[in-house]
Amino acid sequence: MTIRTRFAPSPTGYLHVGGARTALFSWLYARKHGGRFVLRIEDTDLERSTAESVQAILDGMSWLGLDYDEGPFYQTQRFDRYKEIIQQLLEQGDAYHCYCSKDELEEMREQQRANKEKPRYDGRCRELTEPKPGIEPVIRFKNPTTGSVIVRDMIRGNVEFKNAELDDLIIARPDGTPTYNLTVVVDDMDMQMTHVIRGDDHLNNSPRQINIFKALGAEPPKFAHVPMILGDDGARLSKRHGAVGVMSYRDQGYLPEALLNYLVRLGWSHGDQEIFSIQEMIELFDIEDVNKAASSFNTEKLLWLNQQYIKNSTPTHIADHLAWHMQQHDVDISVGPSLEKIAVLYQERAKTLVEMAESSLFFYNKVTSFDEKAAMKNLNQASLPLLQNMQSRLSALSEWLAEPIHTEIKACADMHEVGMGKVAQPIRVAITGNTVSPSLDVTLELLGRERTLAAIEFAIDWINNQDS
Ligand code: GLU
Repeated sequence: MTIRTRFAPSPTGYLHVGGARTALFSWLYARKHGGRFVLRIEDTDLERSTAESVQAILDGMSWLGLDYDEGPFYQTQRFDRYKEIIQQLLEQGDAYHCYCSKDELEEMREQQRANKEKPRYDGRCRELTEPKPGIEPVIRFKNPTTGSVIVRDMIRGNVEFKNAELDDLIIARPDGTPTYNLTVVVDDMDMQMTHVIRGDDHLNNSPRQINIFKALGAEPPKFAHVPMILGDDGARLSKRHGAVGVMSYRDQGYLPEALLNYLVRLGWSHGDQEIFSIQEMIELFDIEDVNKAASSFNTEKLLWLNQQYIKNSTPTHIADHLAWHMQQHDVDISVGPSLEKIAVLYQERAKTLVEMAESSLFFYNKVTSFDEKAAMKNLNQASLPLLQNMQSRLSALSEWLAEPIHTEIKACADMHEVGMGKVAQPIRVAITGNTVSPSLDVTLELLGRERTLAAIEFAIDWINNQDS
């Protein structure tokens, strides 16, 4: 049997990190077993679904590298099929029209509450033979009234639901459109899903769905309900805890593998291993090993992981992702060093790609103004002779490489009887506008002779203009 799993988001916002973790688990399960992973967009809620949200889901999946073998399938394109199944259920006596008005339903619930019973639909339209004029009916599924349904959950074990506690759920609205529990079953059946891995907010839907599967003579899939992700205050992770959309992690400078690694470890572990390559995740992950308890999101740990990934990824890989961040700053990469070189220079220093992009902008943008404090301290009459001396030394240098550049900085410092920092810092301000850069010799090598000299010249003129 080929394992078939799916991710079935509703496009009503961004791709939430909780959704991304569910998608990752389903994807890993399919990949581990040589199965197929399907993407299905559950867009039947026409009021809340938007094209932008669909795009956000597709972008998120693609950025994370969670590739799908089939789909995206859109539920809005399958209305005819749902109608067909609803008709079938009506014909075989497993569904019926319900004409109860809102008021009638409310009265029923009131009565049940008064009797200290759990409010539920009592099935009063089950045996109706005549339509009630003037009312557009809903269609309800005739849930079995006795016995129980056992959801054999791969994470929680067996969870039993008494049929007597499941009321006849609505499968079609008055306008004939199908509801969630019906469309999911029809799709999971038609798409031959073997495993449904989804958030545990759907656990209560599973017994109802299993009953519909059975009514359709189809074998229900195996289920795994993944516990939710909590914020640091123990409440369900939501916008109020900060970023929850997958793409905002890209925007904040995370590598997709770092986020995947973080998500796989939320509620799953393998000994005390923290870092997993995608290949290792595929080999080692098992849905049955996922924790039953909810886990909390910890931004500090994600940041730590990101740093590890930045340190250990190939420069080419970092460069691929850094390119997007550089575009956000509108810089022309062709005027400076390759992004691979930038990656090598900053791999040990940057925690995020945003940091890497921001600190390397000076390689592409000419400095036209200086940080006020930095300039006051470093670009003045005391540093002028040092800058002038370095200007002639660097122009005369035969090989533009870090080592000879370093030798010249040292020679200049010795000649003026100052520490090397006194020479390096004004140059740093000249080339970056500020006081921070990686090791100056390496930085200058990358910046190139022409741009270094131009920056020193600009700084010298600036000092001279201050005094005139
Ligand atoms: N569309 C549902 C949701 O976004 C998921 C349904 C499912 O996975 O069965 O919550």
